[in-house]
Amino acid sequence: MGIIIKSKDEIELIRESSLLVGKTLAHVAGLIAPGITTAKIDEAAEAFIRSHGAEPAFKGYKGFPASLCISVNAEVVHGIPGDRVILESDVVSIDCGVVLNRYIGDSAYTFALKGVPEETLTLLKITRESLTKAIAECRPGNRIGDIGAAVQAHAQQFGYGIVRELVGHGVGRYLHEKPEVPNYGKKGSGTQLKAGMVIAIEPMINQGKKEVKTLEDGWTIMAADELPSGHYEHMVAITESGCDVLSSFGEIEAAERNNEYLNSTYY
Ligand code: MG
Ligand code: MG
Repeated sequence: MGIIIKSKDEIELIRESSLLVGKTLAHVAGLIAPGITTAKIDEAAEAFIRSHGAEPAFKGYKGFPASLCISVNAEVVHGIPGDRVILESDVVSIDCGVVLNRYIGDSAYTFALKGVPEETLTLLKITRESLTKAIAECRPGNRIGDIGAAVQAHAQQFGYGIVRELVGHGVGRYLHEKPEVPNYGKKGSGTQLKAGMVIAIEPMINQGKKEVKTLEDGWTIMAADELPSGHYEHMVAITESGCDVLSSFGEIEAAERNNEYLNSTYY
């Protein structure tokens, strides 16, 4: 299947799904604390999603067993919630997908507990900034390579490793649509952006080297050198004049500021 161009009505439905993901991430942001298990966070997310008339998009996807991907510290993405206990110096990346009115929302945010060291907070700040710089490239006529080049240029100047094996993607009717949206690339290369495209942009940036390994569970992707990793994801619709960010971190950030265990002062 090629790239699916969405109508304005479809984009509004995708926005609703994206905003429910933000609300779900805000809900679980309030629960993050030393001592909670990742399974508890996942259960709360699933209940929240279902209470809003939606379904978790990840649960059952290619056999994934949970509603959230929760990836701690050196885990990059696709961590499976379980009996792992959150500690006071953990970096907790949470990726959430929902299906609401048949349309998909997919967004991710990385939380830092209060004990996370300064150099890792800097990694998270730069990862967020690289997402902002990528979004600034989203307009008709620009190309997928402009997005990747923006992420790469920003993250590389700090010596970080940019994960190659996992990429952003078209999204909306399905969780993963064309085109792929890598976090590296050459300006002016790749598929041209057109109004009606909806893409998930999701820089995955390692504090150390870019190489990753897959753990024995068959899902969890971890930095090979086991240094921390950051991951933020927004859904962006290309419009006639630029772009429209469909997902929101606003409620997540508010919940983060209200959680005494989380650091929200570094970005
Ligand atoms: Mg995601
Ligand atoms: Mg995604």
